[in-house]
Amino acid sequence: MEIQLAECYQTLATDRTLAVELPPAQTQQGGVDCGLFAIAFAYELANGNDPSDVSFDQGKMRQHLVQCLEKRRLEAFPRQLNTARFNKRQTYDIGLFCYCSMPECWDDMLQCDLCEEWLHMACEGLKTAPKGEWLCSVCRPPKSIGVRYC
Ligand SMILES: [Zn+2]
Ligand SMILES: [Zn+2]
Repeated sequence: MEIQLAECYQTLATDRTLAVELPPAQTQQGGVDCGLFAIAFAYELANGNDPSDVSFDQGKMRQHLVQCLEKRRLEAFPRQLNTARFNKRQTYDIGLFCYCSMPECWDDMLQCDLCEEWLHMACEGLKTAPKGEWLCSVCRPPKSIGVRYC
């Protein structure tokens, strides 16, 4: 999730940190209906509604989606306006690293001995960590380009 959020919103980061706010919303019971909730929340958002204000009838959601697919028309999932608040609004920060400005969970990280930036090994084209001092691709002196004259 952090990677997906960073891919979409990394330009909004401040000081290499992407602040994320999770609004309160209904959480699914069990572990198999997350896709149904994702579609139901997206439907509510696309229709200008705040998913924090609705409570879905989880037992009817899957059949409702099947009917929508058969009709080729998406309609509001069985729901009622929510009077009870769900969880609290949560915030957390996603740290962004490397020249790609992505979270650290992508790959093994390496720190450049000169600029001290933490970089993804994959972004630096490395499969294994180099031994000893290491300079990132920005700090490394350019290799001389062999020019052949005829
Ligand atoms: Zn990277
Ligand atoms: Zn560097």
